[in-house]
Amino acid sequence: MASSAQVKVIGGGLAGCEAAWQLARRGVRVELHEMRPRRGTEAHQTDRLAELVCSNSFRSAELTTAIGLLKEEMRRLGSLVLEVAERHRVPAGGSLAVDREGFAADMTAAIEGEPLVEIVREEVERLPEGLSIVASGPLTSPALSESLRALFGKEYLYFYDAIAPIVTAESIDTSVAFRASRWGKGGDDYLNCPMDREQYLRFVADVLAADKVPTREFERCVHFEGCLPIEEMARRGPDTLAFGPLKPVGLSDPRTGRRPHAVVQLRQDDRDARLFNLVGFQTKMTYPEQRRVFRTIPGLERAEFVRLGSLHRNTFLESPEILHATLQTRARPDLLLAGQLIGVEGYLESTAMGWLAGVNAARIVEGRAPLVPPATTAIGSLVAYVTAPGRRDFQPVNANYGLFPDLAERVRRGAEKKRAHAERALGDLGPFRDEAVGPGRSAA
Ligand SMILES: Cc1cc2nc3c(=O)[nH]c(=O)nc-3n(C[C@H](O)[C@H](O)[C@H](O)COP(=O)(O)OP(=O)(O)OC[C@H]3O[C@@H](n4cnc5c(N)ncnc54)[C@H](O)[C@@H]3O)c2cc1C
Repeated sequence: MASSAQVKVIGGGLAGCEAAWQLARRGVRVELHEMRPRRGTEAHQTDRLAELVCSNSFRSAELTTAIGLLKEEMRRLGSLVLEVAERHRVPAGGSLAVDREGFAADMTAAIEGEPLVEIVREEVERLPEGLSIVASGPLTSPALSESLRALFGKEYLYFYDAIAPIVTAESIDTSVAFRASRWGKGGDDYLNCPMDREQYLRFVADVLAADKVPTREFERCVHFEGCLPIEEMARRGPDTLAFGPLKPVGLSDPRTGRRPHAVVQLRQDDRDARLFNLVGFQTKMTYPEQRRVFRTIPGLERAEFVRLGSLHRNTFLESPEILHATLQTRARPDLLLAGQLIGVEGYLESTAMGWLAGVNAARIVEGRAPLVPPATTAIGSLVAYVTAPGRRDFQPVNANYGLFPDLAERVRRGAEKKRAHAERALGDLGPFRDEAVGPGRSAA
């Protein structure tokens, strides 16, 4: 059937939804293809658009972090995802965490309610012809992966990504687990399970000895340093976990008045605070072993698990060899790529790439030149990272200040330096925003 759409978007995840929304805001007719529920992925559990597959956190909202700055930029650029996330915020200290059900339901309703977006629930097996955005994510279906491979002639890299377990709030022993945020930031948003040294060392030994799911032959295992399975951290040395996700700094156990040796933090996962996830507890331990080992954590002896941890395939392209900084592919200027598929990592980073692809596809429809955000901004630094040619050992990244060009002034350190980066970024974003969104106009 002939389509009247001016742009096809493949993938109704965070990037695809943001792209479709930005196109529609600019009066462009869109066909948004999402394969779920007809065909699932290893991680998605619903048929909702923009489903969050793991953590319910969009991470820090503070400007002293690059991800906090990216939030401010996306707010100013009229991001739908950010607006809906803020509407569904749940307490999480200095972070933006959301009620995942409410978030995905609202995102789905927003896109379904947009008259210029037609949602097509089918798997796209081959790259479409005509102006298109592919935002099919880390779990891109094998047929489409093959089509991308055929066009670019590049090998994919496969690696695992992580899901942390979730327990019910009522099954947590709150006479042991205490409420607090590190350094008191954000009040008492987290539940903390304290361990003394003996308990901690026994836990590390249990994690190491537990049965693990074997690594499949076809999957080349490359972990992000920020997303290592706990057993891999434990393997690196007995103290690694106590300096990583189990670090006790900034926390004091009210029962003893002292800092525990290690702390397992649990973060609220839903609006009603019925569910909590174990922060940083991605793992390849088998399900029975996870239940057994995690129930040795003080306060979790009777934990009821609604989801167990796992590690999954993650697919991304070698973008520096493939993409222009406008997110158009070099092979086909009418084909744009976005989201995690291009080698950014994280919910908001993927969203930001969807925003840019949507804005630029709309500009192509309008006969205007596509845009490149300034490299001094958080969004621009990500674009620069994933599109600068000649990079060796390309690996996906989260937003971080290490990607930013140096500041003009010297001798700035720590928080002061980060604030200076944020100040420069928001200054430089202004003219770009005026061009991309219009001075008086909000895109959302
Ligand atoms: C297991 C796992 C855990 C993760 N945990 C986190 C986390 O805790 N925090 C975080 O910030 N990031 C996490 N990520 C990264 C996260 O996936 C991305 O940050 C984000 O969801 C990527 O957005 P996206 O829009 O690129 O892809 P997705 O959100 O995955 O959207 C892609 C969509 O395309 C659809 N699709 C795929 N192939 C086709 C096809 N051929 N035809 C039609 N539709 C198709 C999929 O069904 C999906 O809905 C995780 C990723 C994985 C895989």
